[in-house]
Amino acid sequence: MSVVDDLFSVRGKVALVTGGASGLGYAFAEILVQAGANVVIADWDNDALEKAVRSLGEAGLAAGREPPHRGVSETGGMKGPPLVSGRGADVSYPRAVSELVDRVVATHGKIDIVFANAGIARGRPPLLPAGWLDDMDMAAYKALIDVNLHGVVYTVQAAARHMKKQRSGSIVTTASTAGMRNDPYTPYSYAIAKAAVVNFTKQAAHDLARWGVRVNAIAPGPFKTHLGGKEPTSAEADAMWSAVVPLGRMGDPKEIRGLALLLASDAGSFMTGGIYPIDGGALLQGPSLP
Ligand code: NAD
Repeated sequence: MSVVDDLFSVRGKVALVTGGASGLGYAFAEILVQAGANVVIADWDNDALEKAVRSLGEAGLAAGREPPHRGVSETGGMKGPPLVSGRGADVSYPRAVSELVDRVVATHGKIDIVFANAGIARGRPPLLPAGWLDDMDMAAYKALIDVNLHGVVYTVQAAARHMKKQRSGSIVTTASTAGMRNDPYTPYSYAIAKAAVVNFTKQAAHDLARWGVRVNAIAPGPFKTHLGGKEPTSAEADAMWSAVVPLGRMGDPKEIRGLALLLASDAGSFMTGGIYPIDGGALLQGPSLP
């Protein structure tokens, strides 16, 4: 194994990724599997979850990981925990999240890495989109805060209970550039939730450092995912977001893998409490240049 492989390895680690069936969560899960972790993805979309587990398993095999459930134990059960598995869960329910995390620990014996990533861009169907200040739909507003903020808090809280006992762990929250400054393209609910995730991440990092648990946030700019619906990014959305990104385009989810692995692995062993934008320069100040 090369020095670089060794530095970024997560071999033997157990990881949980919420919202892992699609988009950025899938990219986080994929790089963790490829770099050696056993990964549990959780999502409230069961069809997408099933497909994602299958293709993550294939990605693991292609990266030279051993087949899941290799061999049979003396009692006839499967030998060893699965390489990739999926669990249906809605992160806006604290009990569902603590059961999810407890199940990961019961199956794998520990939990080393958590990506608290699940999120939505609008109110969950059939609620209307959250609107602007004078026409905000408060039910949609609360539904979004429940997933994008409370879902992260519940996930970190449940993971921290185990990680404190282990005296180790790396937690990564998914914030957004929309939580780091005002953004005219973003509804209030989303901007407020993500700003709170930024400060929650710092608060938790300070608290959990005593137990050797690191907490950092990734703050993506516009990435081409299914956020906001089942459909991929439309041509209009692509053009609109590309115009506000100095690099002139939206991000591909694969472009988030390097930062994710840095924060998850021992390569990031002295990093905690950081909020890391990955945004093609979208946070840079100044007028658009020709
Ligand atoms: P996505 O829709 O492709 O993936 C989100 C996944 O989370 C989906 O599989 C969805 O089913 C799942 N999910 C949503 N609510 C859930 C819940 N309550 N419980 C369990 N699973 C749930 O979108 P994405 O862009 O990959 O979003 C991932 C994270 O990245 C979100 O937190 C989002 O706010 C954040 N983000 C995305 C962008 C972007 O441009 N795509 C920018 C900044 C931040």
